[in-house]
Amino acid sequence: MKEYKNFIDGKWVPSVTGKTYEDRNPANYDEVIGIFPQSNYEDVERAVKAAKKAYEYWRSVPAPKRGEILRKAGELMLQRKEELARLMTQEMGKILKEARGDVQEGIDTAFYAFGEGRRLFSYTTPSELPNKMAFVIRQPIGVWGIITPWNFPIAIPSWKIFPALLCGNTVVFKPATDTPACAAKLVEILAEAGVPDGVVNLVFGKGGEVGEAILNHPEIRGVSFTGSSEVGKRIGEVCGKMLKKCSLELGGKNAQIVLKDANLDLALEGVLWGAFGTTGQRCTATSRLILEEEIYEQFIERLIERAKKIKIGNGLKEDTEMGPLINESQRKRVDEYVKIGIKEGAKLVCGGKYYEEGECKKGFFYEPTIFVDVKEDMTIFQEEIFGPVLSVIKAKNFEDAIRILNNSRYGLSSSIYTNDIRKAAKAIEMIEAGITYVNAPTIGAECHLPFGGVKETGNGHREGGWTVYDIFSELKTVYIDYSGILQKAQIDTWEK
Ligand code: NAD
Repeated sequence: MKEYKNFIDGKWVPSVTGKTYEDRNPANYDEVIGIFPQSNYEDVERAVKAAKKAYEYWRSVPAPKRGEILRKAGELMLQRKEELARLMTQEMGKILKEARGDVQEGIDTAFYAFGEGRRLFSYTTPSELPNKMAFVIRQPIGVWGIITPWNFPIAIPSWKIFPALLCGNTVVFKPATDTPACAAKLVEILAEAGVPDGVVNLVFGKGGEVGEAILNHPEIRGVSFTGSSEVGKRIGEVCGKMLKKCSLELGGKNAQIVLKDANLDLALEGVLWGAFGTTGQRCTATSRLILEEEIYEQFIERLIERAKKIKIGNGLKEDTEMGPLINESQRKRVDEYVKIGIKEGAKLVCGGKYYEEGECKKGFFYEPTIFVDVKEDMTIFQEEIFGPVLSVIKAKNFEDAIRILNNSRYGLSSSIYTNDIRKAAKAIEMIEAGITYVNAPTIGAECHLPFGGVKETGNGHREGGWTVYDIFSELKTVYIDYSGILQKAQIDTWEK
């Protein structure tokens, strides 16, 4: 069994604690993927020291050259796409087709970063005084802490690490404890692509230990976090106190609206993919379906019929449509929400229990689950479940559907199916979310567009596209006065 180590200052080194843990396959918990270190603050201390030292050199490498290293990383990922995807499926359960997509998102992000190395645009603007030039440059910030979840184990670290490096920062990366092997592969690729020693450091371990040590370290100037709103609030609190830059991508309770004029076949395909893709474990997963009352009964009937046919199993099999949940505690959590849904009066019409057929007995499988007649004050309508559970609710009309969708503390993704262009445009204007899809499901972000949400989904930053470069750089305003005399802004005028 392979025993993994931390990656600090360009070397694979054991944790000072000597403690380890096993990483297991959620589709078959007898299968151990690898043994990983359970590090502590001392390991983080070493990683930060290396990152700080490397920063002095890395920040001086021209951005187009940093970009070339990331292009090489993207090429290596492309060559190893299948190997990475298979490892991901074994490590966190998503089906192979989706795992390939996850790796592809990392590849796309690397190539985008390569291009951005020759842009990193900023602003120039005229000065109010003669013989004076004014412009703005982007500068790196320093050492960043990168803390990631398990549901996109290559894509999410890539979204953060690649732009952070392109801007000239160095990083200490702590992946989720459930997906350390994918993180190790990604870092291995970055080193092979030519990222200098100390620029990327990887420390395995628990959030409460390694994560907290990163968060509280005074030399870490920024923290980029994706995960639950609960942990995100803690991160925001510490970063606020220590005045660190902090970007938070948090939970979602995404809804799909289907209006009576919509193409119902298309809307049905959309909700099945949005709700049960990645076993509902996407931050953008569809967990609420809002149907206009005229189509409520007929749509539900077709939905149940299709959901019952979803093929559950090990994601390595090409015909599997839905894999397991990430671990037993997540499966219990999902099951508890289902029990609460029943207790609060929602009608369970599909699934609602563990799936333990054949070899699935050894994994954390759960049936695709649908509740109908859900009311807005119910727990299953309001809280993020992060599993294959869909709550269906009836809306009186278009305006009511928008009101119901907005009745959430989250605001990540949203979707509306309609053929009425006026309603679609009004929905784009009125929906409170960072992302709105028209005639497409709530999932399926593309890496070159801004990604993030409103309300409790984050703190206003947008990863992805060009906007992520605002997170990982700071603006410096430069004035060059070539008049040869003292000119005072707001006091002197341009007139002789
Ligand atoms: P989580 O919040 O439990 O953990 C995320 C990371 O934070 C892990 O690496 C964990 O070890 C670490 N962590 C935990 N406690 C910490 C602490 N006190 N200090 C520092 N780090 C700590 O989330 P998860 O279960 O891994 O992922 C699921 C959640 O992520 C869901 O809520 C989902 O919506 C969210 N998510 C959001 C997005 C987005 O872009 N908005 C994308 C994917 C997932």
